[in-house]
Amino acid sequence: MEYALLTKIGGELIEASKADYQDYYGFLKCPVCNEPVFLRKGHLRNGKEITASFVHHKAVPEISTCELRVGKYSQEDIEVFVAKAKKQRLQKLNISLWKYLKTNMAVSFRDYEKLRHKTRNYQLFADLLAYGDQCITNNIDSIVENLIPTIGEMIKNQDDNIGVIMSMLDKFNSFVNDLKSDWLLHEKIAKESAELFLSPQMKEIRYRALTVLCYPDNMNLMNKDLIELRMNTDEWIKIFTNYLTLQIALIFISINWIKLLS
Ligand SMILES: [Zn+2]
Repeated sequence: MEYALLTKIGGELIEASKADYQDYYGFLKCPVCNEPVFLRKGHLRNGKEITASFVHHKAVPEISTCELRVGKYSQEDIEVFVAKAKKQRLQKLNISLWKYLKTNMAVSFRDYEKLRHKTRNYQLFADLLAYGDQCITNNIDSIVENLIPTIGEMIKNQDDNIGVIMSMLDKFNSFVNDLKSDWLLHEKIAKESAELFLSPQMKEIRYRALTVLCYPDNMNLMNKDLIELRMNTDEWIKIFTNYLTLQIALIFISINWIKLLS
């Protein structure tokens, strides 16, 4: 049959022609009877091409029913599985988002508690966080639909066009290799997670991330203009917004979601 459920990440529906045997081995089951299935790769038999398919491990009496039902999946059926998998992932993300964010490779959140303590009595810093929060939540579409895929593509192709990312490429190399066959799924979960992060319910988590990103020493390291230019000028606002949206996208694309959610 053409589809199986990948049980690792909330029950994502996987097409046989796109399944990677190595990574998915042991994690595939039949969407109808829930029995384990394995991938039979596409091959030639007597000169005839046999397409890749999922096959039940053991003979269960209902197999023909399974084949028949899976074979008739409509777009709607598939969407039901996709929605169910997403719901399961969001439940985990809701509980552990901050823990997951700390595993990103772009920004270290190790010093968050220290920085929060240092900055807690400064109204100006509180205002900066509030403004930063506005900047990122107003740009949710651009972060999710544009920046995450674009930066993901650059990291994956080891593009040397952006200096900031270039300096991290070594770190990213093994990460990219690990995820290469699952990149679409990785990007999809990165987008889902960023969307959740930028939703009203995650304000407290965003403020933690912003405390680190907006801490003057950290901004100074990334772009001196963020510190040297006068705040609230058009130029500063533009640089500040670019800085934050880019960092958020980098954070979300550089987390190994598949591993965390498995
Ligand atoms: Zn079955």
